[in-house]
Amino acid sequence: MKVAIVTGAAKGIGRAITIMLAKKGIKVIANYNTSQKQAEELQKQLKKEGWDIDIFQADVSHREEVKKLIAYTIKKYKKVDYIINNAGISQYQLFTEITDENWEKMMTNNVNSVFYMSQEAVKYMLQEHQGCIINISSIWGITGASCEVAYSTAKAAIDGMTKALAKELGPSGIRVNSVAPGMIMTDMNQDFSKQEIEEIKSQIPLEKIGKPEDVAKCVEWLIEDEYTTGQIISPNGGWVI
Ligand code: NAP
Repeated sequence: MKVAIVTGAAKGIGRAITIMLAKKGIKVIANYNTSQKQAEELQKQLKKEGWDIDIFQADVSHREEVKKLIAYTIKKYKKVDYIINNAGISQYQLFTEITDENWEKMMTNNVNSVFYMSQEAVKYMLQEHQGCIINISSIWGITGASCEVAYSTAKAAIDGMTKALAKELGPSGIRVNSVAPGMIMTDMNQDFSKQEIEEIKSQIPLEKIGKPEDVAKCVEWLIEDEYTTGQIISPNGGWVI
């Protein structure tokens, strides 16, 4: 049996990834931070369909909480095969308005969380001489977005980590990749007006906003693949080519 941890699994993209993995018969430890109710509902919904997942509360921007999440997994399942570093926050503001506190929050939630999760899990992946880490970054890490300097910086850092770690861990049989989505309809984009969404759609060659399941499909492919590492794969409807 394969074992996966998905961070930020209760909603949006993390939820779709969790459902995809669970339905493949993979044991998922679905991490949540504040969305306990949604996590419990997801667990219940999957249970009804015959799939068992574990849910585990942890703020993955703190090393000690990540340690508890990994310890729970190892105690119960003895190993971890896949880490999906999906948890993240975004913030839309002018560069001149970003405070040190905003910046710190962006980096701890988006970058430190990936560092802590990967470092704590890799210890066990090295023992198995196999493993797969998938980091959910963003097209803004590739191209940069106006009024999202902190977010773009954080996501570019994740892609840098992906490439460097892929080189370091390749000889140990561990693959590391990023999935860098374009615009995906989740709570993260709830503040966009209908008109703004239509404007964005008109810039996308496939003329549609992505679904969380579109990202989950990329993750599914990366998990099954055996020869892809250090890559940034971007499901974005052709928005950025
Ligand atoms: P979402 O619905 O807002 O979900 C974000 C998730 O991250 C939530 O489940 C949240 O958990 C979790 N999270 C945030 N900080 C956390 C922490 N410190 N510890 C544990 N969990 C934490 O947004 P989403 O669109 O699904 O975003 C998922 C990922 O995709 C993010 O990394 C985001 O940057 C990336 N992404 C999204 C888009 C898009 O257009 N939607 C595009 C590119 C990349 P709780 O709710 O439990 O607190």
